[in-house]
Amino acid sequence: MLRMLPGVDHVLELCETRPFFQDIPKTVLLSSIRKILETLRTGILRTERDITEESLSDAHITEAVTAAVIKATTPNLKPLVNATGVVVHTNFGRSLLPQAVIDNISVIAGGYSNLEYNLEAGKRGSRYTSVEDLLCEISGAQAAMVVNNNAGAVLLCLETIAKGKEVIVSRGELVEIGGSFRVPDVMAKSGGILREVGTTNRTHLRDYENAIKENTALLLKVHRSNYSVIGFTAEVSLKEMAELGARHRVPVMEDLGSGTFIDFSKYGLVKEPTVQESVASGADIVTFSGDKLLGGPQGGIIVGKNPIVDQIKKNPLARALRIDKLTLAALESTLRLYRDEEKAVAMIPTLRMLTMNIDDIEIRASNLMDELTNIGATRMEISLIRLSSRAGGGALPMMELPSNCLRIRIKAMSANTLERNMRANDPPIIGRIEDDAFIMDPRTLKDDDLPIIRTAFENLLKKDKL
Ligand SMILES: *Cc1c(COP(=O)(O)O)cnc(C)c1O
Repeated sequence: MLRMLPGVDHVLELCETRPFFQDIPKTVLLSSIRKILETLRTGILRTERDITEESLSDAHITEAVTAAVIKATTPNLKPLVNATGVVVHTNFGRSLLPQAVIDNISVIAGGYSNLEYNLEAGKRGSRYTSVEDLLCEISGAQAAMVVNNNAGAVLLCLETIAKGKEVIVSRGELVEIGGSFRVPDVMAKSGGILREVGTTNRTHLRDYENAIKENTALLLKVHRSNYSVIGFTAEVSLKEMAELGARHRVPVMEDLGSGTFIDFSKYGLVKEPTVQESVASGADIVTFSGDKLLGGPQGGIIVGKNPIVDQIKKNPLARALRIDKLTLAALESTLRLYRDEEKAVAMIPTLRMLTMNIDDIEIRASNLMDELTNIGATRMEISLIRLSSRAGGGALPMMELPSNCLRIRIKAMSANTLERNMRANDPPIIGRIEDDAFIMDPRTLKDDDLPIIRTAFENLLKKDKL
């Protein structure tokens, strides 16, 4: 059989006669051919059962090469259908950008721009001016700056303010966010010396005050993000910390994590501290993410008082953490939407999904149910079930967003198999499993996801019948 295995040149000639391979780069074609031939050779040597004379035929090999080429030329990063109901899903790219923002990115991406050029003066300008004014206007801060992500923002601020000096943090706020962001580790990398005060559940103003020494550079407050402490607890407000800091001439910083410009309690959700409130409390520096509750591009936003923000801008590390023009274009147009809160909530997908009311969710759920019922498969059991969605992104950890989900079972198929098949769909559909049923939450579905889901189920049921 080894003798029957064709050579690379023969397969190449075969492929080159087919229109499909016309636009395929030769390197891709060759490596796909080698891969297929190698797999066959190994199969023959191992006397694998499914390697037959038939599988060594020209037709069979060209087909295998076609499949390998398709795989090699399909992007690895691809869209998927988020049916999990987790709005800011870190594994799925967190926030979806509004259309107006996407449009602005493509304008800036395809041409030259005044990224670092001051048009009035006709000379070099600052990369950050386009967003700094907007950030100050919305947050009420004196100055602002943006870097790669919030982890970078925290690192940069600590390195600037506290390298070689002590930073006082409550024990109850030494959090790990996931994706390896841990407050003590970031502190160590920045060169700041962590000075823990208080206990896990209770920290008092006197704990901070007693810890302030000659070598204290900063009082730091960290948003707990993805967990909460309940029961016998006490924590010091940012305002009290800011007053204490002012008395002792020690700056105060808050890592807000998610960061929002909107008071979610107005929309019936749990109250999250807003960026404006943190600024108004008198903090010297506030940092937060661009792509969590803000619903914009990935970025780490720093707002605060002038002398410190200036120092931060001058830190050489800022250059290493700088954002690119696409992020800047996206952030500027996202921030512009925030000038009108109603518009922001309607247009920014993250906000729209979080504030979606239950009636809207019910309509979406029944639309999806109709779509799937119309397949007319008797093996499929579809029902609606009241479950909760989640905000995700380390935000609003205790909040259950009431939702109306689709619960699907297929006779003679386990929920695990169903889930695996949906995940293998193109595009993948990711839901969750509860009580041996596949659950899809309409909160995080886009309108054009519905036909995709329908087709996936049709194909699955067809395939499964064979
Ligand atoms: C999410 C989070 C971070 C990290 O932000 P990224 O934008 O993911 O880098 C830092 N601190 C807190 C409190 C967070 O919640």
